[in-house]
Amino acid sequence: MRPSLLDPLFAPAASLPGIGPKNAKLFDRLLGKPEGARVVDVLFHLPYATLDRRARPKIRDAIPDTIVTIEAKVTEHREPPNARSRAPFTVLVEDETGDVELVFFLANHAWVRSRLPVGATRWISGKLERWDGRNQIVHPDRVMDADEFARLPAVEPVYGLTEGLFQRTVARAAEGALKRLPRLPEWIGAETLHLMKLPGFEEALRSMHRPAAPRDVDSAGPAATRLAYDELLANQLALLLVRARMRGLSGRAHVAEGALGRRLETALPFSLTGAQRKAVEEIRADLKAEKRMIRLLQGDVGSGKTIVALIAMVEVVEAGRQAAMMAPTEVLARQHYERMAPLAEGAGLRIALMTGRDKASERRATLAALASREIDIAVGTHALFQESVAFADLGLAVVDEQHRFGVRQRLALASKGEVADLLVMTATPIPRSLVLAYFGDMDVSALREKPPGRQPIDTRAMPIERLQEVAAGLARALANGARAYWICPLVEESETLDVAAAEDRTAHLRALFGDAVGLVHGRMNGPDKDAAMARFQKGETKILVATTVVEVGVDVPEATIMIVEHAERFGLAQLHQLRGRVGRGAGRSSCLLLYKGPLGEAAQARLETLRETEDGFRIAEEDLRLRGEGDVLGARQAGAPGFRFARLEVHGSLLKRAREEAAAALKRSERLTGEENRGLRLLLYLFERNEAARLIEAG
Ligand code: ADP
Ligand code: MG
Repeated sequence: MRPSLLDPLFAPAASLPGIGPKNAKLFDRLLGKPEGARVVDVLFHLPYATLDRRARPKIRDAIPDTIVTIEAKVTEHREPPNARSRAPFTVLVEDETGDVELVFFLANHAWVRSRLPVGATRWISGKLERWDGRNQIVHPDRVMDADEFARLPAVEPVYGLTEGLFQRTVARAAEGALKRLPRLPEWIGAETLHLMKLPGFEEALRSMHRPAAPRDVDSAGPAATRLAYDELLANQLALLLVRARMRGLSGRAHVAEGALGRRLETALPFSLTGAQRKAVEEIRADLKAEKRMIRLLQGDVGSGKTIVALIAMVEVVEAGRQAAMMAPTEVLARQHYERMAPLAEGAGLRIALMTGRDKASERRATLAALASREIDIAVGTHALFQESVAFADLGLAVVDEQHRFGVRQRLALASKGEVADLLVMTATPIPRSLVLAYFGDMDVSALREKPPGRQPIDTRAMPIERLQEVAAGLARALANGARAYWICPLVEESETLDVAAAEDRTAHLRALFGDAVGLVHGRMNGPDKDAAMARFQKGETKILVATTVVEVGVDVPEATIMIVEHAERFGLAQLHQLRGRVGRGAGRSSCLLLYKGPLGEAAQARLETLRETEDGFRIAEEDLRLRGEGDVLGARQAGAPGFRFARLEVHGSLLKRAREEAAAALKRSERLTGEENRGLRLLLYLFERNEAARLIEAG
């Protein structure tokens, strides 16, 4: 249970000053908590910039295009001639060195008159511009009398907002949240604090929300670093606790003679690459050992992970247990099943598919067969790991495209196969720093080598204005028997718009290519999706228009052309994944990245990188480097996925220390008991690593 000391932070945010029944929903949206934001969410919503109002010049000395705060006397009102006029309401103010026009468009005249009466002295703050030799401030941010000025913070925090919320409201709520912060014990070790010169937790939050200088909110500054370190420390503690738990559930040795695996291998139409062979050996060694396997199989798209996993599963079955493979989408689960079924059945194994789409009667039959061990290998979506599914004796769980699953599903999986070995696979090669952050200390096998015979993919970027040329080129390629994917724009947070765009493009392409054009998107029901995929696979359709449902794992070796529309809207890893759909067979493949200009710097760098390299590992590193330079609001507000503060391109170097500190703490006390660990226990709850926190409670 969460210590009551933290209760004030987990009270509803609506209890804070400035948040009333009207704007509580806006805060929920801003803070990404549809179920109701809490005080801690407000506290952790950090400013991403500041407004520096420390410049208090005389008018003559004011620097154009900077924020200035001046003391001046109001000398004249120039009102628009009549109510309907579009002319601004201008107020002239002066000090002994010069004058400034305050310009108000569409102003509330009564407000201007009463705030700036002629003859009064006021403090005015805003961006000064020089226009036609005159000084202007258009819509001053602040108009203050002496009392108000006395309360003006010299440096104001600037928060990310949502429509309908104002800076001042958020700042007020944050101020209220700071006041609710209980006195908390220090959880970072003295040595780390000293070495890294970190401020305290409370001090860090204070200096972010009440910055004294712009660098106080800098993500590389001491305050942000402190908070990022706290988060990484909580995260590493949680990972180590979960891992200790998984390892502690002593693994079992899966002892197989290897005959089935060999039979499977000889049935393959190809021989394994050196990298595949090595991965298989590493996995075999883990399976044989008493300790529980927790291994990540990293390999670029098309590097042949599936067969490695299948060999591992077959091994476990030969040792007398069951194996399961979980994929993130229906399409992918089905494809795995269809691929593996002939091979597995050829080796005398019983394999079944289980997805959320199964009829109740089918599902019941599968469940019974799993429980009675009539099924050796189960392939499915996360439906496989729901409460109601009971395996007779699960020996190995394989998770494909791991990065698409959240922590919760991963934990569900861990508890499902209490003693099952775990193999997770990812097609997005993850830099070491991310592996540590997300998975903790897993063993890693990597397939860096691709199966032989693959040709480089000719990658080009082209403005969408050249669509006609693209269509003509496509027509020629189709005439030569090619097959093509056409990926449609990703519309932020709107599946409906995604679908509309894909339907429009399909109509357009059908006008050119007739029945050769198929469509698959996220809103289609399962059977329709399968049917569309199957037609493309069989070559009945030659162009498959798709939203990003084809992103992961789908394998149609005959497809040699990938066209991505609005490529500038996709992330680097995603584009790399998409491109990986082609270049799988022997034919020469190409990838066309259609963009709508003008391109931002980051988008340009992404397309550039893709043209330069196909090495997924390099692309992953580049992705990490570039992500910090995305659009200011989007990227600066949010940390890496799953993190609030930590941004690995900035704070990645803290990770190692956080890991060591977490490990040392758990070594001293594996349940973090005792007064000296009170801070760390609080930290887990503060950062809501609740699943992990539960592991240190009695039981
Ligand atoms: P991914 O790593 O992206 O999951 P897959 O396992 O889907 O890749 O494999 C991609 C393609 O490569 C499949 O068609 C598979 O049959 C083929 N493949 C896998 N291993 C080899 C190999 N050693 N030689 C030739 N083709 C292979
Ligand atoms: Mg795959």
